[in-house]
Amino acid sequence: ETAYPLDMNEALDEALSMVWNELKYKVKVDKQYTDLPKILCIGDQIKQVFINLLMNAIQAIEKNGRLWIATGQHTEGEIWISIRDNGTGIKSEYLERIFDPFFTTKPVGSGTGLGLAISYGIIEQHGGQIHVHSEEGVGTEFIISLPLQPPVK
Ligand code: ADP
Ligand code: MG
Repeated sequence: ETAYPLDMNEALDEALSMVWNELKYKVKVDKQYTDLPKILCIGDQIKQVFINLLMNAIQAIEKNGRLWIATGQHTEGEIWISIRDNGTGIKSEYLERIFDPFFTTKPVGSGTGLGLAISYGIIEQHGGQIHVHSEEGVGTEFIISLPLQPPVK
């Protein structure tokens, strides 16, 4: 696949629409988008990252589900995307393992443990970073930073 300029807010909306049936009755979604320049990227991969993060959030949410999705621009030629939930959160001793391939806390047969590992690789390929903040019983936030001109061909 070749890279093309993509509006991250539109990509997030597309990812959201793909998982909408999973969340429409369960989760209140709050979007705070900032107008952003388009990013040269492999769109299918970036959308896959968003879907992975959204599905994890939906699966972590128990009751009174909330999902906060926000975008913004750092001054130094970088944008950020935040996907935050009020789900179960992640145990602190697991935090350093969640990006490892096949790490999952889901019951056998319900999770491959590959979603975050793949997402990490995709963001890295685009010259960006993915960070997590999580507190057990409170929720989890994933923040992606991407350079305005990623090194993808
Ligand atoms: P999988 O979803 O197949 O388990 P992932 O790589 O997507 O694999 O995620 C790895 C693990 O990270 C999950 O099993 C879960 O323990 C944790 N995790 C990821 N996202 C969240 C989230 N939003 N809330 C709580 N735990 C999460
Ligand atoms: Mg997953």
